[in-house]
Amino acid sequence: MKQFSALIAILFLSLSTAAQDIEALKANIIYLSSDELGGRGPGSEGARKAADYIAEQFKKVGLKPFRGDSYFQPFDMPNQDVPERNVIGYIPAKEKTDRSIVFTAHYDGYGIVESVEGDDKIHNAAQDNAAGVAGMIEMARIYSQKKSPTQNLVFIATAAEEGGARTPRAEMTGADFYALNPLFPLSGITINLNIDGFNNLGPAADYWVMPRQGVDFVDELRAALKPFPMNYAPPDWIDGMNKSFDTQAFLSRGVPAVTIWTGFELREGAGGKVPRFGRIHAPDDEYNDTWRFDAAEEFLRMYEAVADRYLESGKRGKVTDLSLFKEEAK
Ligand SMILES: [Zn+2]
Repeated sequence: MKQFSALIAILFLSLSTAAQDIEALKANIIYLSSDELGGRGPGSEGARKAADYIAEQFKKVGLKPFRGDSYFQPFDMPNQDVPERNVIGYIPAKEKTDRSIVFTAHYDGYGIVESVEGDDKIHNAAQDNAAGVAGMIEMARIYSQKKSPTQNLVFIATAAEEGGARTPRAEMTGADFYALNPLFPLSGITINLNIDGFNNLGPAADYWVMPRQGVDFVDELRAALKPFPMNYAPPDWIDGMNKSFDTQAFLSRGVPAVTIWTGFELREGAGGKVPRFGRIHAPDDEYNDTWRFDAAEEFLRMYEAVADRYLESGKRGKVTDLSLFKEEAK
C-alpha cells in the first residue's frame, strides 16, 4: 500500500505543479502556535525553539543553509540582551546569477503579555503568522522538488517583525537586517513575496495585493493570478498597510515587495463575512478546529503562480514612488 501511494505521489509530481502536503502544513501551524512556544515573543525560549524547528524543516525540505552549515542569521536588537535570529535557506539558481526571489514570513509573536486580563496570556500568533511560516516552508518544499530555478530562491523566516505592527515601527526588524546583509544583492531581487496572514476561511471571493500604489507590478501580479476564480477587489483601507509588514524593509529601500491576501467573503455561497480566526495580536489568535484548509492549497498556488511568472520572465518589479515608503523620522 505504501508503494502504491508513493507511486501516486510520483504521478502527481510529474504534473507541472508539485503536489502539496497539507497535513505537514497543518502540523507546522499547530506546533509553531502551541502554548509550548509561548507565543514566540522577543528574545524568548519559545522564539529560540521556533527558529530551531524552522531550520530543521528547511533542512528536511532540502534548502541549502544560509552560511556554512547554519540556517541562522543572528543580529542584535536595541534594548535586548538576547540576539534575534532570522532563519534562512535557499535554492541556488542553476547558473550563477545575482537575481533572486525572496520569500519572507515572520515567525515571531508578542509572546506572553502579563498585562492582558484573564488567565490566558499567551499570544499564540497562529494566523499571524505561524500559518504564514508553515505556508512558506511548504513553498520551499514545492520549489525544492521542481527543476533548478533560473534565479536564486531565498526563504527567510524573519525574526522581530512585530515591532513593525506598533507605532513607530521598530528600529530594527529581521527583514531590515536581511536587507542590510543580503545573501544576494538587493539590486537583483526581482520580487519579495511576503506571507503574513493566511487563508483559513475557505474559498475566497476576492483577493488583493499590498501595496497597490507606488509600484509598477500590480498588473503583472494580476495577470499571474488571473486563472484563480477570484476578483481583484482591494479595499481602500489597505493603503499604507505595508508599513506593518516585512515588505516595508524592502520597499523603503526601493526593492519590489508584496503581500497577497484573500478577502473575507467566501465564494459560491460558502458563508458570510465571518473570520474564523480570533483577533490578531491577542491571546485569541489560536489554532482551532474550525480552521478550514480547503482553500489553503489554492492560496499557496497563488504565491507559486506569481513566483513562476517572475522566474519565467526574469523581469524585476519597480518601486516607482519611493516617497510612499519613506520611514517617518524617529
Ligand atoms: Zn504578521
